[in-house]
Amino acid sequence: MTRSVDLAAAEAMDAADPLRAMRDRFVLPQGVIYLDGNSLGAASPTVFAEVDIAARQEWGEGLIRSWNTAGWFDMPLELGHRIGRLIGGAAGQTVVTDTTSINIYKALHAAMGLRPGRNAIVAEGGSFPTDLYMAEGVAATRPGARLKLEGVDAPAIEDLIDDTVAVVLINHVNYKSGELRDMAALTKRAHDAGALVVWDLCHSAGALPVELDACGADFAVGCTYKYLNGGPGAPAFIYVAKRHQAEAHQPLSGWWGHARPFAFEQGYDADAGIRRFQCGTQGMLSLRALKGALDVWDEVDMQALRKKSIALADLFIELVEARCAGHGLALESPRDGSKRGSQVSFTQDNAYAIMQALIARGVIGDFRAPSTLRFGFTPLYIGYADVWKAVDVLANVLATGAWKDPRFAVRAAVT
Ligand SMILES: *Cc1c(COP(=O)(O)O)cnc(C)c1O
Repeated sequence: MTRSVDLAAAEAMDAADPLRAMRDRFVLPQGVIYLDGNSLGAASPTVFAEVDIAARQEWGEGLIRSWNTAGWFDMPLELGHRIGRLIGGAAGQTVVTDTTSINIYKALHAAMGLRPGRNAIVAEGGSFPTDLYMAEGVAATRPGARLKLEGVDAPAIEDLIDDTVAVVLINHVNYKSGELRDMAALTKRAHDAGALVVWDLCHSAGALPVELDACGADFAVGCTYKYLNGGPGAPAFIYVAKRHQAEAHQPLSGWWGHARPFAFEQGYDADAGIRRFQCGTQGMLSLRALKGALDVWDEVDMQALRKKSIALADLFIELVEARCAGHGLALESPRDGSKRGSQVSFTQDNAYAIMQALIARGVIGDFRAPSTLRFGFTPLYIGYADVWKAVDVLANVLATGAWKDPRFAVRAAVT
């Protein structure tokens, strides 16, 4: 059954959209349809204002006094509490610090320490690569530790979880296909085998409602520069369930994780709570950009966000299949919206050149090797008419063969 949505119908859907007003909270260049908020979220005036205050007033005038007077020292925890609302983690369990890669290292190391006598780390062969690189790094520091991968050592992750496994590292939403994992079921499966789970929320924080506490999660990590719009290289977050905090030891025992950093004592004594997952001095200008971005998130109803996210992506799939048939595009993402994050991927042998041709026409998505065209749907600033126009451009690029222009074959460093 196909319903045929034309531009006027898509505009009518925008007019009826309860999240429509959120679009005005972002700055986006004219003539751009931005379908890459899953890699780098859009900027907002609130962010610029926060960065300006932090730089000109707090740093420029307040100088060193601002560590106390501007709340700088506690900013990683304060922002962690606010992200907690978006990922279903009660206060005191999330801190904004370091990068996702570094936080994966800390979480895996801490989880292995909580399960002495078990030496396996389970992860996905199709994981975002840095997760696996960091897992290799952790395994290399622990004699006897080994990595078992879904898709390599067994077809399904469930089949790898047994009583030798200390920790399972899972991407909540796969970065390439957009497949959404069942957090409650997999957490339970791991716990039944006595293992812990580290959830990587890079493509689900700010993309859909997440319920860490309700699922009994142990650890989680995630980016703030993707769906949360914290800015390029904005610091990541790490969540550690309250019940694990006192015994969870992360290996980067820097002074910001110490119970009394300004006592300048000899000997490391970890803070009793989530602070122990910090390492050194945190980047205040980046944190302030994130604070501005979270001001926008404070107004967002996550259920409404999820509903619109699925509707945008469903419309995109429907229109691509109706208008771009015969050009070798194959849907890589789950068709069922309830099993998908907030992105849609298609494979095509010439995906890189096609994406470059789209970007040259103002439709910005991204390419993931070897053959994925990836489109992110960020319901706060993308509407139904944007989806319609993006597919119109894609259909045109394919029908005319415009992507065959040799300049679109030249690979850039960042794709
Ligand atoms: C984007 C992403 C990362 C990025 O890690 P950084 O340390 O911020 O570079 C890690 N894991 C997943 C699943 C991602 O999608």
